[in-house]
Amino acid sequence: MDTDGYRHEQRRDSADYWLAKMVVEQLRARNIRDERVLAAFTKVPRHLFCPGVSLSETYGDHPVEIGCDQTISQPYMVAWMLESARLRAGDRVLEIGTGSGYQAALLAQLVARVFSVERIPELLNAARERLTRLGLENVTLRCGDGSVGWPDQAPFDAILYTAAAPEVPQEVRRQLAIGGRLLAPVGQRHHQNLLRIERIAEETYREEDLGGCVFVPLRGAFGWRD
Ligand code: SAM
Repeated sequence: MDTDGYRHEQRRDSADYWLAKMVVEQLRARNIRDERVLAAFTKVPRHLFCPGVSLSETYGDHPVEIGCDQTISQPYMVAWMLESARLRAGDRVLEIGTGSGYQAALLAQLVARVFSVERIPELLNAARERLTRLGLENVTLRCGDGSVGWPDQAPFDAILYTAAAPEVPQEVRRQLAIGGRLLAPVGQRHHQNLLRIERIAEETYREEDLGGCVFVPLRGAFGWRD
């Protein structure tokens, strides 16, 4: 898609218009530079993941409700996380919090295998239908408590938390391959910092704080109880 052409596009009822505008004004303008990540955004129609929501809302610069008290994250937040994970085409990636399936669909464009876990069956079933309709066969979904990771499928080259965690337990860190990157919003219930944790040797992890963010809470064994 020609993402610069949207400025001349008069048809504001077209999803292509809103998608191109989102990529230019929310992602490129805020310094998302990884062309593979930007290309993935142009390939995945976000409106298929937000049924019943207008195009301007779906492609707006904010999270959107997807039912069951959950949200699909703001486009920039998703892009920031994907770029910061330094994904490579051959990677196996775990996503904790499938939600609508949007970020899993983006990941499916960027890496070899995606494993995504969601605790709410209704959301998982809807996500499964969308991913199947899009023909994305490299995504494996599971319903369950992702706060413990997915030990049976470890190790992963990247692990992405899409819900805010009070901490990242050893049990999940150990599911990273050596050289693997884990991105997680960690901190308080209503405000977190996006952490990048890299496993640089068997028992050595490097941790970086990439900046402030706000996510819905992670539940489950290593999540929030309230
Ligand atoms: N990545 C999603 C998308 O693209 O639509 C957005 C995810 S939403 C911000 C966070 C999701 O994490 C919610 O769907 C929520 O139900 C899920 N979640 C929270 N705690 C979880 C847990 N322990 N295991 C699995 N999923 C969890």
